[in-house]
Order: sequence, then C-alpha cells, then structure tokens
Amino acid sequence: MVDSVFSPAPGEDAAGAAPRGPGAPMIVLDQVSRWLPMGRRRLDILHPLSLSIPSGQFVAVMGPSGSGKSTLLGLLAGLDRPSGGEITVAGQRISAMNEDDLARFRGATIGFVFQSYQLIPTLTALENVQVPMEIRAQPDAKERALALLAAVDLSSRADHYPAQLSGGEQQRVAIARAFACRPPVLLADEPTGNLDTVNGAHILGLLKQLHREQGTTLVLVTHDAEIARAAQRVVQLRDGRVVEDRSAGTDGGKGS
Ligand code: ADP
Ligand code: MG
Repeated sequence: MVDSVFSPAPGEDAAGAAPRGPGAPMIVLDQVSRWLPMGRRRLDILHPLSLSIPSGQFVAVMGPSGSGKSTLLGLLAGLDRPSGGEITVAGQRISAMNEDDLARFRGATIGFVFQSYQLIPTLTALENVQVPMEIRAQPDAKERALALLAAVDLSSRADHYPAQLSGGEQQRVAIARAFACRPPVLLADEPTGNLDTVNGAHILGLLKQLHREQGTTLVLVTHDAEIARAAQRVVQLRDGRVVEDRSAGTDGGKGS
C-alpha cells in the first residue's frame, strides 16, 4: 500500500517535471541574497550564495538557529523573494515570476512541510491532505489521502481536527499533505523536529522511500543526525553563509 502511495501516477514518469534525468540541476541559486531594511541599516539574513542541486539529490541543510535555514527554504519554494540574485527550479526562473505564476509553479513542483505545520484548522486531517489534490481536480483524492494517512500511521485520526492532534501528529499530517501531488521537489523544515525517536525514524524512512522510488529531490532543514547521515549532501549554514558543503561517501543516501 505504501508502494501505491509513492509510485508515479498512471501515465507519469517518476519525478515527472523538467529537468529530465538524474544529475541535471533541479535547483540553481545564483548569487542569491536576502536582506531586510533595519532603520537606516540593513539586516543581512542570507549573504550572496550560489548553489546547484542536481535532480534527485537528497540534501540536508543544517546550522544553528537563526543561520538562515528557513529563509533559504522559503526562497526555494517561491514563498519569499530574494533581495538579489536568481533562483531557477525545474528549469523555471522563479525569482522573475509574478504571484499567479508562482502559485502555479508551487502547485506543480513543490511539496512543502512548514516548521509550524500550517494545517487548516477548520478541516480534518483527511481533508487537509485532500486539499492540494482537490485544487488539481484529482479524481482519486480521497482514496489517496486515506492511503497517505495510513503511510504516516494516522488512519485512526483521519476525522480529527488539527487542535485534536498532538504536535507530532500534525507534523505527520503536514508530511502526508506535502506528498499528496507527487511533487518532484520536496522541501521540509525540520520534518522530524517534533517527533519522538520511533516516529522520527518512521518519517525518515518514508522520505527515503519517496526519494528512492520517485527520484524526488529532497531538501530538508534539520538538526537530526539520522537525517544528515541518510542525506547525500549536507550544507551547513552559519550567519547567512554556507560554511560547509559536503557530499556523503559512496554509501550516502542509498536509503537501506
Ligand atoms: P533558521 O531557520 O536557521 O533558524 P531563519 O531563516 O528563520 O533562521 O532566520 C535567519 C535570521 O533572520 C534570524 O536572525 C531571524 O531572526 C531573521 N529574520 C528572518 N525573518 C525575519 C523577518 N521577517 N524580520 C526580521 N528578522 C527576520
Ligand atoms: Mg528555521
């Protein structure tokens, strides 16, 4: 059943969005910066940063609190705009898009797990997972939402509202929702941050499975050493700069 959750939709290639083929860049940051005006000065949140992430790579972004990890993820998702530089995702230059095009881009390309989950409080767990599929008028939305909830071990909570769920349970619903439309790029902000060891390992297993079976490009912000170990590449941020960019050994990210 978990297989059916991750396998490509009928008539679709795995990770069916440009660019094609492993190794082609999926995400390219060219001198991307983010700063905010602070009175007459400015607050540099990200210093100009260039990074290329190949299609299908599993990247962990690490670094102390306040180092710019969430800001970087928001820029990759087109939820925030850079102060300078260019961002290209799946061959599309998102830093130049208007809001409508950005919304379409996000719907087609990005699955996003927010640090604060951002579930819709007036919808049940099941409905929250269904929403992105219903926006796309996907015919099997309910069936697939049920399968996704089963995959994150929450079948018994399908009819519960977010306020009736623990933080860890809400996080798992948010992860199921992010998987829903089989995005070629999954971005997650501390996806195991509020989970106990058992549930954290379970979610990491699902993320690895998604990566392996669908060729999903994964960028995970994390403090979790297990995620860093599973990743093929670890990018360390400090004070808005990349201070280390390390690819794992040949065994990295195989997901066994
Ligand atoms: P991280 O996710 O690594 O903890 P963030 O990307 O959330 O870091 O934030 C990086 C820095 O930018 C922090 O010092 C944070 O306080 C600051 N920052 C982020 N967004 C804003 C904002 N909207 N206004 C003021 N400061 C911000
Ligand atoms: Mg953060």
